[in-house]
Amino acid sequence: MTIGVWVLGNQLWQSQAALASCESQNAPVLFIESTEFAKERPYHKQKLVLVWSAMRHFADELNQAGWAVTYAIAAETETALRDWLKAEDISELRLMNPVDHPFTAWLEGLDLPCQLTILDNNLFLWSTDDFKAWANKRKGLLMESFYREGRKRFNVLMTGDQPVGGQWNFDKDNRKPPKGKLNTPTPQWFKPDATTQAVIDKVDGLKIPTFGDVIPFNWAVTREQALEVLDVFIAERLETFGPYQDAMVTGEDTMWHALLSPYLNLGLLHPLEVIERTEQAFIERDLPLNSVEGFIRQVMGWREYMRGLYSHFEVDYGDRNWFDHRQPLPEFFWTGEVEMNCLHQAIDQIHRTGYAHHIQRLMILSNFSLIAGFTPQEVKEWFHAVFIDAYDWVMQTNVIGMGLFADGGLLASKPYASSANYVNKMSDYCQGCRYNPKQRTGEDACPFNFFYWDFLHRHRDKLQAQGRMSFILKNLDRMDGEELDAIHQQATDWHGVHP
Ligand SMILES: Cc1cc2nc3c(=O)[nH]c(=O)nc-3n(C[C@H](O)[C@H](O)[C@H](O)COP(=O)(O)OP(=O)(O)OC[C@H]3O[C@@H](n4cnc5c(N)ncnc54)[C@H](O)[C@@H]3O)c2cc1C
Ligand code: SF4
Repeated sequence: MTIGVWVLGNQLWQSQAALASCESQNAPVLFIESTEFAKERPYHKQKLVLVWSAMRHFADELNQAGWAVTYAIAAETETALRDWLKAEDISELRLMNPVDHPFTAWLEGLDLPCQLTILDNNLFLWSTDDFKAWANKRKGLLMESFYREGRKRFNVLMTGDQPVGGQWNFDKDNRKPPKGKLNTPTPQWFKPDATTQAVIDKVDGLKIPTFGDVIPFNWAVTREQALEVLDVFIAERLETFGPYQDAMVTGEDTMWHALLSPYLNLGLLHPLEVIERTEQAFIERDLPLNSVEGFIRQVMGWREYMRGLYSHFEVDYGDRNWFDHRQPLPEFFWTGEVEMNCLHQAIDQIHRTGYAHHIQRLMILSNFSLIAGFTPQEVKEWFHAVFIDAYDWVMQTNVIGMGLFADGGLLASKPYASSANYVNKMSDYCQGCRYNPKQRTGEDACPFNFFYWDFLHRHRDKLQAQGRMSFILKNLDRMDGEELDAIHQQATDWHGVHP
């Protein structure tokens, strides 16, 4: 009986469940670097480089540790898998749970000539069964309740059964607008080594649709480098992470953000080690609790919650469209050629790096997609294609649920919809924009304004049912009918100009 392990591109950890289940470290192990994967959508070139270079480095590490590694560079995934199963005479194929539904369905439909064993994914803190047990006990699935449960369960930032500092959440201290000169830290980037350079050359020569610039490629591609990014985050960025978490500044792509999602999502880092090192630094260096708690809430709360809900909801969750939005995503999402400065800056940055921070994703890109009424599934596809850290499990709940409220509120308690007011307060983008953030109608009116009020007006009945919207709907009711008609007309005309 020969047991073989297939390591997927986002499971690059020596202690991952399938490798850990093998008794000896010389079992056959397969990696498949497949062009078929790259054809699924026009991925960011740097995402392809990141995944393939990290896979090649990890395959080398396993090789050096004694595993019998086959690294297949293939056009088709299934052919490469079957060839390897035959060549190695595999009788049991072991895999760690891929998490993503489309891949799991494909795998389970393969009818392989050997036993297929899928082991629980241990790259998350919560197993799917534990999350389901938590969710099934409750009426509402509030993130805050889940997060508190996690803090207690993993004993993080706790004094006995109480939260350190007497509060669970310090978010209100974390919304500072960017004023004056900010001394932002330099991100921890890396020069490509020979392995990464070979992948850059390969990706650059691919004759398939892709997105973005392939160079400069600065991302970490090994666990060692990812640990360095974590260390630098804790040493230089964590202290100020909290206050400016929501701020956006032209030319500042990364602010005090951690830049850890690409590595967590590939398995180069484990969420528990990220949380434990952060907590340890808090104890040793007396760091501000609002920053430490704010960051731990992202990793221990939001990240685990999004993955838990993805597994808990029906597989067709991603098809939801509660507002029945049908406008096509404009071409400028792919080119960045748009006069709206906030959108231009965010898309240009993604083009260069594959990265935008949370508020750019939520309050610029998905907020605009929501109020302008773009089809949720097109928006989701765009996010999946262009971001360096995108995977199906993280896409569905973030884009369909949090960003677009297309699930009707299964996840968020109200839509994250806002006018130019928010962008003007939390960024400097409006200063360099041809539109006026204060104007709702007319040639210079900011599209965030007319779309925002038109969105509220169009969906008044649906929004009325969301308790947290009543205050803003009162403002809508105070607007005169003529202005609302003009707003509606301008919103409708805009789609004609930007089909
Ligand atoms: C519309 C939309 C799309 C998003 N798409 C992705 C995506 O494709 N991949 C992705 O990893 N995250 C996604 N996020 C969540 C979040 O924006 C990114 O995780 C974060 O911006 C990554 O940058 P960072 O590591 O510098 O983040 P920081 O804010 O500095 O660090 C926080 C860490 O917490 C985790 N985290 C925080 N919020 C979330 C969340 N909602 N979901 C998952 N992890 C979270 C991440 O691992 C992140 O590294 C999306 C959010 C929105 C609103
Ligand atoms: S004025 Fe409107 S479009 Fe221009 S940057 Fe501000 S919010 Fe964006």
